[in-house]
Amino acid sequence: MAHNPANNIQDLQFFGEFGGVNPSISDSSTFTFMTAKAMMDTFEGDQEGSFLYSRHSSPSTEYLAKALAQLENTASAQVYASGMGAISTTLMQLCKQGNHIVSSRTIYGGSYAFMKHFLPQFGVETRFVDITDLEAIEAAIQPNTKVLYCETLSNPMLEVADIEALSKIAKQHQICLVVDNTFTPLCITPANHGADVVIHSLTKFINGSSDAVGGAICGSHEFIESVKNVNNGAGMLLGQTMDSLRAASILKNLRTLPIRMQKHSANAMYLTSYFQELELKCTYPGLQNHKGNNTFQKLGNAEFGFSGIFTLDVGSIEKATEFMELMQHENVGYLAVSLGFYKTLFSASGSSTSSEIPEDEQQEMGLSPGLVRFSIGLDHDIKRTAIQIEKCLMACGVISKQKNSELSV
Ligand SMILES: *Cc1c(COP(=O)(O)O)cnc(C)c1O
Repeated sequence: MAHNPANNIQDLQFFGEFGGVNPSISDSSTFTFMTAKAMMDTFEGDQEGSFLYSRHSSPSTEYLAKALAQLENTASAQVYASGMGAISTTLMQLCKQGNHIVSSRTIYGGSYAFMKHFLPQFGVETRFVDITDLEAIEAAIQPNTKVLYCETLSNPMLEVADIEALSKIAKQHQICLVVDNTFTPLCITPANHGADVVIHSLTKFINGSSDAVGGAICGSHEFIESVKNVNNGAGMLLGQTMDSLRAASILKNLRTLPIRMQKHSANAMYLTSYFQELELKCTYPGLQNHKGNNTFQKLGNAEFGFSGIFTLDVGSIEKATEFMELMQHENVGYLAVSLGFYKTLFSASGSSTSSEIPEDEQQEMGLSPGLVRFSIGLDHDIKRTAIQIEKCLMACGVISKQKNSELSV
C-alpha cells in the first residue's frame, strides 16, 4: 500500500502502562536487568526490546522516534535535544578525517556554520553549491566526498531541491544523500524520492508550539544503530540526548500535524496570491512563477500544500525593520526567529537566522537585506490578516495604493 504519512500518524497505537490512551512517560535514567547475562548481551549490541541507559534511548524517546519513522517512511529514527544535535551527529557519523561534503549553499545558518567553521577542525571540508544546478553538484563531487547535503525547501531562499535527481547523483557516486525536511513535514517525504537520511528540527512545525527544542534523524535501521553504537556512535558519545519528558510532549503535538500543515499551507497560499496581485516581490513555492513550483508538485503530497513559509522583499533593511515593528504593533504576529507557531512569526533573514553567512555570499545567493521571512500562523480569518499586512505595507511606503478598501479591521 502507498505510504500515507497522515494515516501512519493516526494509526499509531501506543498504550500507557495501565491502559492509558497516552504512553506512560519513562521517568528513569537507568534500567534494571533481570539477569547479568541480559546486561552483557545488551552492551554487546543486542538491544532489541531492552533499555540500558537513557542517554542511549528510553521508552519515551523510542515512541517519538517510531512515530517520526512512520512520518518519514524510514525503517528507523532517533531523537535529539535539538535540530543542530541531529545535524551535527549525522555529519560526524558519516564523515571521518579527510572526507568531504557537498552542500547546498542556501541552508540554515547553524548548519552552514557547522560545515564551514566547525568541521574543518576535524579535517572535513565542505563545498557549497547551488543545489538546483545539477552540473555544478556533479563537478563538486570528489573521490573523498561522503555526503550530499540539502534542505527540501531551503532557508530562506525557498529553493526546492529535486531530491529524485539528487538521489540519482548520490547513488552513482555512492555517497549519502542527507535531507533536512524541517520546512516541509508531510508536504514532501524525502525518503520516498531516494533520500538516505532525513533530518528534522522538531522545534518548528512538528512540535508547533514554540515551547520545545528538539531534533530527529530518520534513516535505515543500520544507520540509526550505528549512530547509537556504544563504542563509536556519535549519538551515543556526544551526549545530545532528548529528555523523556520532552519526547512525550512532542509526541502529543505531532498528532495534530496533518491539520496544522494544511492550515499553514492554505494560509500561505492565500496571502502570497494576494501579495502577488499587489505586485510585491513575494516568494512562495506554491506560486506558479516560483522556479521550484514544478519540482515541488512532482515530489509533493498535494493534500498538504506547499508549507507555511514565504518571503517578502521590501527593499532595504530599514524598510524591513519598520515593517516588522509595525506588524508586531498591529498584532499580525511576532518579530521572532523560528517557525511553525500558531501565530505568525517574521524576521529579516540576512541579519538574523542567516547572519552566519557573509554578506558577499548572501548577495551571491540572492538574499537581500530587505528580505522578510514569514512563518504564517494558523490564523482563522486569513482575509483579515491580509488586510492588516497590506495596511502595514502601505504605512511604511512599500506600496502606495491599497488593493482592498476594507480598512475597517
Ligand atoms: C531551526 C532549524 C534547524 C536547527 O534546529 P534547532 O532545533 O534550532 O537546533 C536546522 N534546520 C532548519 C531548516 C531549521 O529551520
